[in-house]
Amino acid sequence: MNVTTEKKRIKKTNKKPTKCVSVCLDCKNVHYKNIWYAPDSRLALLLDEKKDTIRYRLCPACEMEKEGHYEGVLYIKNIPSDLYDHVISAVLHEAVKDYVENPQHRLLDFYDTEDGYKVTTTAATMVCRIGEKLKSEFSPCVMHSAYQHEPFSMQVTKLTFLN
Ligand SMILES: [Zn+2]
Repeated sequence: MNVTTEKKRIKKTNKKPTKCVSVCLDCKNVHYKNIWYAPDSRLALLLDEKKDTIRYRLCPACEMEKEGHYEGVLYIKNIPSDLYDHVISAVLHEAVKDYVENPQHRLLDFYDTEDGYKVTTTAATMVCRIGEKLKSEFSPCVMHSAYQHEPFSMQVTKLTFLN
């Protein structure tokens, strides 16, 4: 290998490939090749404002939160009083697991209702997943889940404790 070829090789390997990404103005999630990454992910930490093309906008999850929309709603009904705290912990635990897998999957609100809780999420799959987890952990329960188009498209899951 002559010197010129060697110089070219070094130059080539030193050249960092540039990325074209979107970064959320609010939560700093990074969108790259159809996947969302958390702000503490390796990809996000290695972004270079000088070399990479970065577009700033709100991510779908933050947009949804801002608009008061949600893609999933879970009603948990007829909870035995001694299980209230356990149910909350199980919901939060599943929501965190989901968020770690995909930072766009978020629990938006947790409301008290007359006979239990109403939980809203940014992803339709989240309420099914949380509902299934509660059903397996706290039987006997029945679960019903359906897609609904009004007032906007969302997955509605109802989990009822049979006491
Ligand atoms: Zn965001």
